Amino acid sequence: MGKSLAYFTRQIYSAFQNIQEVNCKPFLTSEVEPVSSLEEFTMATKTLTHYWNGSAHTGSGTPIDRLSPSTGELITKIPDATPADVDAVVAAARNAFDKGPWRHMSGMERAKFINALADEIEANIDELAIYEAQETGKPLSLARSDVGGSANLFRYAASHAMQMHGDVHTNLGKGFTGLVTRVPVGVTALITPWNFPLLLLAQKLPFALAAGCTAILKPSELTSTSTVMVAEMAKKVGIPDGVVNVILGYGNTAGQKLIEHEDVDFISFTGSTRTGRAVIEASKLHLKRTSMELGGKSANIVFADAVIDDAIDGVMFGVLFNNGECCVSGSRLLVEEKIADEFVAKLAKRMSEVQVGDPLAGGSQIGPMIHSGHLDAVLGHITKATSQGAVIATGGVQVKSGDLSKGYFVAPTVVDKVTEKHDIFHDEVFGPVLAVTRFNGKEEAIRIANATKYGLAASVWSKNIDTALDMASELHAGTVWINTTIDGSPQLPGGGVKESGFGREMGQAGFDEFTEVKTIQIRTGARNRYFG
Ligand code: NAD
Repeated sequence: MGKSLAYFTRQIYSAFQNIQEVNCKPFLTSEVEPVSSLEEFTMATKTLTHYWNGSAHTGSGTPIDRLSPSTGELITKIPDATPADVDAVVAAARNAFDKGPWRHMSGMERAKFINALADEIEANIDELAIYEAQETGKPLSLARSDVGGSANLFRYAASHAMQMHGDVHTNLGKGFTGLVTRVPVGVTALITPWNFPLLLLAQKLPFALAAGCTAILKPSELTSTSTVMVAEMAKKVGIPDGVVNVILGYGNTAGQKLIEHEDVDFISFTGSTRTGRAVIEASKLHLKRTSMELGGKSANIVFADAVIDDAIDGVMFGVLFNNGECCVSGSRLLVEEKIADEFVAKLAKRMSEVQVGDPLAGGSQIGPMIHSGHLDAVLGHITKATSQGAVIATGGVQVKSGDLSKGYFVAPTVVDKVTEKHDIFHDEVFGPVLAVTRFNGKEEAIRIANATKYGLAASVWSKNIDTALDMASELHAGTVWINTTIDGSPQLPGGGVKESGFGREMGQAGFDEFTEVKTIQIRTGARNRYFG
């Protein structure tokens, strides 16, 4: 018998009660009770629609079926946008930017709306978390933590709406004044991937809104529900129609038409480096500004003087967080030779004890890969690594026990004895797969850490402050963590260098991406005439 979402929400609500609000370590600390009633019901399949001008639009595109990565059941149906749908959504955002009240409101007023949206997100935390967990395959406890983190990002961005200001230059000579102002960049296309649908949206949308921009949200076709819900919530809290819009569908249909559209002023893109290149290519057409949050192959670098148990926990967290499907995943371990054997043995044992399971069931610490093709790709990376001479210390296989055989689960995997010659040293696997390389001394650690095309993040584990800070200054990465990993706060910008992208999200730098600098020059009194 199918039961309603409200019933389902009530059932698991009590399971949430014991979860402590954690920023980023729920999968290792989760206390969620098993939801025994889960098997008694199935959730109704959701049918989503595009959203523009404050209302839902079914469009005429072919529907796309999203199957659960845990069970293979149909969970969501979304329309694939036609070119006409994209034209309509862009027209809505353009009109709202050019003629609507949003960019003319005081920052204080915009902040009120953004804070109201944060409240609304928080009020719907359970429903949002269920959909996020169901569509992405991340454990429910982590999905819930993502929702809380998203509300925090909205609140932080609201403070920028109030503080947006420029500079006045009054020392340019008598009768000459310069105003350096900040204005919204315009109509923004916010394109997000499937691994953190809501959280990554929250790194973009409230900052765009705070600056006075209008937005077209383009979620992944695999994980669209939370994005549509946020657009509906924007309407509910009174954000004017046309300010927050959603276009659904595949990247090569909805996405491609959107990035080529001449009425879009700015593209904020998060996704793979491959798609990032396509976005940059399309942006050349009308010379659009872009920001690129792309892939990574980040290293956890462990020195012999680290607190070893902390480092082991950090390395596990780094590679298993969000099922290993995380841009800043610590998917490489560089470990100092003199502790390497002992470290890897202890780590492999702990990794083999991690609970792999249904994301909606209590106790699961990692869930399935996002889809069957990705499962095959992850297993393919492991097979290739062993064929090239690397050694599996634990895992390396699909988990198929019991009901898990219906989904795309991979055992936490440690691939040891990896060198720069192995493809797994360089390739973003995007799964619970750690590649281990040994080093001798700081100089070698720096060289090996930097020997990839990516530059998103790195973590250093050492109790020697000289070592830690030298490493931080030499690593090619947008973020360096010292004695921690995948930490963060809305105040701190994130982003990459090299093929991990450019531009920043969060913090002042993240807000500035959504603004243009406009200079106003004023002459008072008699002007020195050039032609007399
Ligand atoms: P993806 O590049 O396949 O897709 C990302 C988004 O782009 C989706 O919404 C997709 O529909 C859209 N898209 C695809 N082709 C497009 C096109 N031609 N034009 C416009 N839009 C298009 O990425 P994914 O598989 O969804 O996500 C995984 C990737 O995202 C990984 O490489 C990961 O490292 C990266 N990522 C980066 C960050 C970061 O902050 N740097 C964060 C999360 C994920």
